[in-house]
This record gives sequence, C-alpha cells and structure tokens, in this order.
Amino acid sequence: MKLILLGPPGAGKGTQAKMLTEKFSIPQISTGDILRAAVKEGTPMGRKAKAFMDAGGLVPDAVVVGIVRERLQEDDCRSGFILDGFPRTVAQADALQASLQEMDKELDRVVSLAVDAEALVERLTGRRTCRQCGRGYHVKFDPPQQAGICDACGGALFQRDDDQEETIRKRLQVYADQTAPLISYYRQAGVLMELDGMLPIPQVQQEMLSRLQAS
Ligand code: ADP
Ligand code: AMP
Repeated sequence: MKLILLGPPGAGKGTQAKMLTEKFSIPQISTGDILRAAVKEGTPMGRKAKAFMDAGGLVPDAVVVGIVRERLQEDDCRSGFILDGFPRTVAQADALQASLQEMDKELDRVVSLAVDAEALVERLTGRRTCRQCGRGYHVKFDPPQQAGICDACGGALFQRDDDQEETIRKRLQVYADQTAPLISYYRQAGVLMELDGMLPIPQVQQEMLSRLQAS
C-alpha cells in the first residue's frame, strides 16, 4: 500500500500513520520527524532547515524532495509506505511523481483529512510527544494515564517549539496557500479519498481502514 496522508498541521496525520504502519507493516515517512532529528543532531541539513521550521514556514523543496527520494529507495519501502507531511507544495508533488515513475511505482491513495481551523489550534496547543519513543498524545483528547509521562515507555512528554499559537496560525496560513491546492491536484489524478477528520481518533481510524480495505 503506497499512501499519502494529506491535511493541515494537527489534522491527525501522525496519529493515524502510527496505526496504519502497524496494520499494514509499512513505514511511516514523516518529513517533519526527519527534519527535527536533523536539527537535533545539528547536521548541515538540520542547520539549514531550523530557521524555516522555527518561523512556521516551509523548508525549501529541494531539501525535502532529496530526503524523500533517498528514503523511498530503502528496503523497507518495497511493499509500501505512508508519507506524512509530504508533499506540501505542487512542486513537491510533481517531484514525487517523477521519483515514483523512475522506480516503476504508483500511488494507491491520497487520504485527505479535513478539520476546522479552530479545532486545529486546540489540537496543536494541546499536543504532547514522548521524547523517548515519539508517541503522540493530547492533554484533552488523548491524555496519558499519568500527566507528562508516556504510557508506552515511561519517557517524558514535551511540547514542540512550533506548537505555540502564533506559529500555529502562520503554519495554517502556509497550509492554505501552498498545500491545500494538492487536494484538487490529487482529485484530478483520481486517487483522492476524503475523510472527516473532526471525528474522534478511533472513528477516523475505523473509517480510514474500512475505506482503504474496500478500495
Ligand atoms: P498532524 O500529524 O496531522 O500534525 P497529529 O497526529 O500530531 O497531527 O495530531 C495533532 C494533535 O491532535 C495530537 O495531540 C493528537 O493527539 C490530536 N488528535 C489527532 N487526531 C485527533 C482527533 N481525531 N480528534 C481529536 N484530537 C486528535
Ligand atoms: P510537521 O511535523 O509535518 O508539522 O512539520 C514541521 C515543520 O517541518 C513544518 O512546519 C516545516 O517547516 C517542515 N516541513 C515538514 N515537512 C515539510 C515539507 N514536506 N516541505 C517543507 N517543509 C516541511
């Protein structure tokens, strides 16, 4: 299964991708996670990306396209993958198409999650992530059993620097301007599956699975 999860920041892409990786035994490729790891390690790419990320803007297309092209060639992507947070511009979508063609592969589905702007702000300000295993939580919608501690591994939870309200509003504007056009891009390509991302997490999951398995 070769999938893209498309949607604004906070739509639930990472949450649903984790479930799909287990269900279908295919990797989640999150460009945000890869970039954050590069920033943490202080690699040349990370140093270049940091200012764009801190400001809530997009990292240049050439950088993320290069990351994804390399990642898709790894062995674990042979039977499929879930792209989470990529593509985010029409240029990235065109580059992905060219890379897949080179590899003689085709996308199966682009799952688009629609969520209201105010709900996105509430989701992102309440998002917490485990520093150790990367599992995501929400203080209200998906809280850990013990505040600040990961249920899965006992690691400490943290709040992302870009999940502050001012940066969130900037990221939502960038999404509307640069990423939302991909909805019609993939509709025209005949691969778009639109889901109501306002539903609670388990219902989004159920709906996504049943529609993917039926298609
Ligand atoms: P994205 O990867 O699209 O940026 P996440 O999957 O990290 O979004 O979700 C953002 C926040 O919203 C997280 O704190 C997550 O727990 C919460 N969340 C995800 N899906 C839902 C949902 N359907 N209803 C309520 N909260 C959700
Ligand atoms: P995310 O974890 O998907 O919310 O991404 C966090 C940040 O990483 C974004 O606000 C961008 O600065 C950067 N980023 C992630 N994916 C991309 C992408 N496909 N294109 C450009 N920038 C990206």
